[in-house]
Formats: sequence, structure tokens, C-alpha cells
Amino acid sequence: HPVIELAGVTKAYPGGVTALRSVDLVVGHGELLAIVGPSGSGKSTMLNLIGTLDRPSQGTVRIDGHDVAALSDRQLSALRARHIGFVFQQFHLAPGSDALGNVADGLLYTGAGKRERKRRAEAALVRAGLGDRLTHRPHQLSGGERQRVAVARAVAGDPLLLLADEPTGNLDSASGAGVMGLLHELHKAGTTVLVITHDRDIADSLPRQVSMRDGRVV
Ligand code: ADP
Ligand code: ADP
Repeated sequence: HPVIELAGVTKAYPGGVTALRSVDLVVGHGELLAIVGPSGSGKSTMLNLIGTLDRPSQGTVRIDGHDVAALSDRQLSALRARHIGFVFQQFHLAPGSDALGNVADGLLYTGAGKRERKRRAEAALVRAGLGDRLTHRPHQLSGGERQRVAVARAVAGDPLLLLADEPTGNLDSASGAGVMGLLHELHKAGTTVLVITHDRDIADSLPRQVSMRDGRVV
């Protein structure tokens, strides 16, 4: 089955805003794509539904063939932990923990022992080009390096899907290019990567774009 399948998905928030209107989307294994559109067009709502952080008002969301509506909150957290990596605009790293600790803690859900978590965290950081930053804390790293730590944390457990919400939004263009380069490498290594952006240039640099406007795919 596809990694992501949205069929007739509508999302109405309490208060009357309809953020998504009858959206269909199929994303296959190994795709790298952008969801692009202006502020308020429904990108974050779509990311929350694909990330199983929220449920649709109507329609079906399937992740790796699992119908989200058929799963309990507990089953959804398990699916999310095993299959989906998240990267946000605001890095969300633990300030008191070094790069290795930040990435290793992201593997707690696997039940792997401390040594094994550190081994896998180090491998992910090395692949992200941060082999010489393992014991640096977030405040000792540049913005681009922080975001690469966040990407390493998101992929250390080998997720099926990496969801990146405006991953370059807080970065200068050189650091942003470094982060996008890392996402391209992950794609080449087989990970399915979905990037949310309002930046046309970033969307144009990816193999597939889905454009949103007023809650619809256009
Ligand atoms: P984008 O990510 O493209 O900026 P959003 O999905 O955040 O778009 O928002 C789409 C619409 O839904 C906007 O009108 C926004 O104000 C509204 N919206 C988003 N989140 C909520 C919420 N939790 N409650 C009510 N309205 C929301
Ligand atoms: P292959 O074995 O097909 O050459 P690799 O596993 O070496 O693929 O990965 C190729 C690229 O993908 C690496 O250069 C790295 O940047 C990126 N990559 C793969 N896995 C990870 C990971 N877990 N964390 C960070 N980057 C990764």
C-alpha cells in the first residue's frame, strides 16, 4: 500500500473554520514531495492528519495501509513512534542535553538499551554530517546544525515517513540548503519525505509538489 492515502478528507475545526475540503492525496514509498501554499491554506492541518496527531471530520486517512479511524489513541501513538519522524521549524531540542543525548532519547520508545541507543544515535549524527558535534549542546550549535540534529533524531529509528514542517523557516539560505541536502540524501537512501513549505524555491527544488489553496489541492 501507499505510505500516505487521503480520500475525501475534510477537516472542520470547532468554531466553524473548514481547513481542508475533500482532499485526495496518494504518496508512494520513497517519494520526496513538497506541500506548498500560502499561510492559512491548510498545510499544517494536513500535516497533523498525516502525522496522526489529529483525525479528519470526514473522509479516510491511511498510513501504510492502516485506517487511522480504526485505531485507538494508544495504537496511533505506537504507529507514530514506529513509522513517522517529525521535524519542525523550531528544532524542539532539549537544551540541557547534548546532540547525542537528544538523538538517543528519541529512541527510548524502541526499548533498546542505553548503549544501543547511543550507538544508533551516533550513526545518525555521523550521517547528518555532525560526527564532530556529538557532545555539543544546542546552544553551542548553529541553527543549521541544530536542525540537522533534529533530522538525525527524526530518522534514527528508521521511520517509514519523515514529515518536515517548514524545516528551513528559521535558517539563512546556506544553512537551509544544508538541511534540504540532508533530506535529499535520506530520500536517496529510501525514506519517504514530505516537506511543508510556503517557499516556492524550496518546493521547486523537489521532485513533486502538491499545491494548496483555501483547503483544497489545486
Ligand atoms: P497553513 O499551515 O497553510 O498556514 P493551517 O492548516 O494552519 O494552514 O490553517 C488553515 C485554516 O484553519 C486557517 O484558517 C486557520 O486559521 C484554521 N485553523 C488552523 N488550526 C486551527 C485550530 N486548531 N482551530 C481553529 N482553526 C484552525
Ligand atoms: P547507502 O547504504 O544506500 O549508500 P546510506 O545508509 O549510506 O545509504 O545513506 C545515504 C545517505 O542518506 C547518507 O549519506 C546520509 O546522509 C543519509 N542517511 C541515511 N540514513 C540516515 C540516518 N539514519 N540519519 C541521517 N542521515 C541518514
